[in-house]
Amino acid sequence: MNPTPDAPEPRLSVCLTFDWDTMSIWPTARGLTDRLSMSRGEFGAYSAPRILDLFAKHDVKGSFFTPGFTALAYPDVVKRTALEGHEIGHHGWMHENPAKLDAERELEVIDLGLKALEKVTGETPSGYRLPGTDFGANVVDVLLERGFTYEGTSAASDFYPCYLRNGDKWSDTEPYVFGEVTELIGMPFNWSLCDVPYFEFVPGWSNLVMPPSAVREIWQTEFDYAYENCPGGVFVLAFHPEIIGRASRLRLVEELIEYMKGKAGVRFERMDDYVTRWRAANPVVKWKAENPMLAGTSAITTL
Ligand SMILES: [Zn+2]
Repeated sequence: MNPTPDAPEPRLSVCLTFDWDTMSIWPTARGLTDRLSMSRGEFGAYSAPRILDLFAKHDVKGSFFTPGFTALAYPDVVKRTALEGHEIGHHGWMHENPAKLDAERELEVIDLGLKALEKVTGETPSGYRLPGTDFGANVVDVLLERGFTYEGTSAASDFYPCYLRNGDKWSDTEPYVFGEVTELIGMPFNWSLCDVPYFEFVPGWSNLVMPPSAVREIWQTEFDYAYENCPGGVFVLAFHPEIIGRASRLRLVEELIEYMKGKAGVRFERMDDYVTRWRAANPVVKWKAENPMLAGTSAITTL
């Protein structure tokens, strides 16, 4: 599945991605510290080798957004993941919500995560996926300052990246003010292409566990649309090892991999590899001219 340098451009790329939260998410995002919740986090490390075995069987590379906390708690499996050619991206230190941090602490959290990932993998990540989905005022500046090339929770487009704006403003009396387009790339993310809403039963938070066959129908239909209509685009699925690593869901992932591999011109790739190619083909000035709505340059700014 690793393309040779002169391989033709794929018709559609598939990025299978993971937020490798393990225990970090329960106290921080959910306020739960009970034994059952924390041990559900542990399952995210326990089940990871199954996922790695499945990906090795199909020669598929993925992207694992990993809190520093996870990397230090489970260095062996995180190291194995990196050694097998998967991307290790940044996902905070302990899954902190950046919108609740001041700029100084946000930078500190990014640095703690970087230090932990570098210690375990020996590599510096170029990609970041926001813990939770709350962007906050400083994320773009902080990520650019630390040399990241992309962030992985943009819902403005579904099957193409965009360049992220910084400093949008709004009120209930004035036209929407679009901020400046930056060099930071936003990779598509949508809850409907994530395992959480379908499979994550948390007492008091959610009460639905769907059959994998129903979820396959949704994900496969989204993939088919992207394949037919979005040349050069990217189909992103967002998983969590503690959720997708359960038996019935792993079977779903394998069925989908087999289905997508059956389509000519589909390439499974790490998100950072896709971003590198996309950025070279879409410099920011060209992209702004071709995407005035996403760039915010076509808006009427006065009444
Ligand atoms: Zn997460």
